Amino acid sequence: MPNTQTETLNVNPEEIAKFEQGAAQWWDENGDFKPLHQINPLRRQFICQHVGEVFDKKIIDVGCGGGILSESLAKLGAKVTGIDMGTEPLNIAKLHALESGVTVNYEKITAEEKALASPESFDVVTCMEMLEHVPDPQSIVQACATMVKPKGYVFFSTLNKTMKSYLLAILAAEKVFKLVPNGTHDHDKFIRPAQLISWAEHHGLKCIDTTGIHYNPITENHKLIDSLDVNYLIVCQKI
Ligand code: SAH
Repeated sequence: MPNTQTETLNVNPEEIAKFEQGAAQWWDENGDFKPLHQINPLRRQFICQHVGEVFDKKIIDVGCGGGILSESLAKLGAKVTGIDMGTEPLNIAKLHALESGVTVNYEKITAEEKALASPESFDVVTCMEMLEHVPDPQSIVQACATMVKPKGYVFFSTLNKTMKSYLLAILAAEKVFKLVPNGTHDHDKFIRPAQLISWAEHHGLKCIDTTGIHYNPITENHKLIDSLDVNYLIVCQKI
C-alpha cells in the first residue's frame, strides 16, 4: 500500500532512511558526520556575527538531525527548537541533549506544518545541509520565511551545483576518501546561490550576506572563504 503520508509531504523517504540508518554515529566526531562537527564552529560564528547575542533568542533549527547546531546554540543560552522528519536522529538528539545538560525542544514535524502552526514565531531560523535532501526545497524556504519574525534572520547552507562541488563533495568525499557514505549526496539536488537567493526574495526575505565554507577532505582544513563554489551559507532578513 502506498504511504499516503509521505506522498503528500515534502519528504523523500529514501533520504530520511539514509539518516535513520546512520543516526547512531551522529555524535562520533570521527564518524560519518565528522565534517558537520568540524564546520559547526564556523556556522555558529557566522550566525553570531549577524545576530549578535543569541542568549534568550527563539531559534528553530530545521532538519536538525542529531542536533549538532541546535545544541551549540542552546549552549549559548538560545531557546532552541529542533525539527526533523527522522525518528532516530531525533532520538539521538534528545539523548545527547540530556547527556550535555542542555535544553532543546525536539519535534518530529515538517517545516511546512510547523510554519502553519507557528508563523512569525522565531527570532532566528537555521536550515543547514538539508535543502539538498528534500523534493521541493523552495517550499522549505517559504516555510522558513513564514516562521521567522519580521526583521528576524534566516540562515541556509547547502552545496552549489558546480563541477568543483561534484569533484570535492561527491567524488573525493564519497568515492575516493570515503569520508561520508556513498550516496549521501545527489549532484542534481545541489542548488546555485542565485537560485536560493531568488527563492528567498520571492518569499519576503532579503539576502544580506553570503560566505563559502571550505572543507578539504584530505587535510580536514576548514574555514570560511569568499568563494561559494562548493559549500556555502547565506543569511537573509525578513523584510
Ligand atoms: N542540519 C543538521 C543535519 C544535516 S543532515 C546539521 O547540519 O548539522 C540533513 C537532515 O535533514 C537529516 O537529519 C534528515 O533527517 C533531515 N531531513 C531530510 N529531509 C527532511 C524533511 N523533508 N523534513 C525534515 N527533515 C528532513
